[in-house]
Amino acid sequence: MKEELKPSRRQFLKMGGAAIALIPVAAVSGKAMAATNSAMRTAMKYQDKPSGDKQCGTCMHFVPGKTPTSAGGCKIFPGDTEISPHGYCVAWIAKPK
Ligand code: SF4
Repeated sequence: MKEELKPSRRQFLKMGGAAIALIPVAAVSGKAMAATNSAMRTAMKYQDKPSGDKQCGTCMHFVPGKTPTSAGGCKIFPGDTEISPHGYCVAWIAKPK
């Protein structure tokens, strides 16, 4: 009777090992695919247009993209790479001159 259980137990352990091995891959690929941080955008009331003369391009938290007009990042929006230089949120603070 024990002999009958061994293969299924072995299979279970193999599947468990495979599942554990895939977790970091799924976590990394999920993070790489996330271009926006919707939770932070909502919490900080992010918008893709300026608020008066306040915009991401003049904010101290902005991380510029490849060109002055391309999307960049924000130091307080982890994982978000689609921040418009013309965007705005309530955490805006003027870049030091
Ligand atoms: S804190 Fe807000 S305004 Fe400043 S760069 Fe980030 S998203 Fe833009």
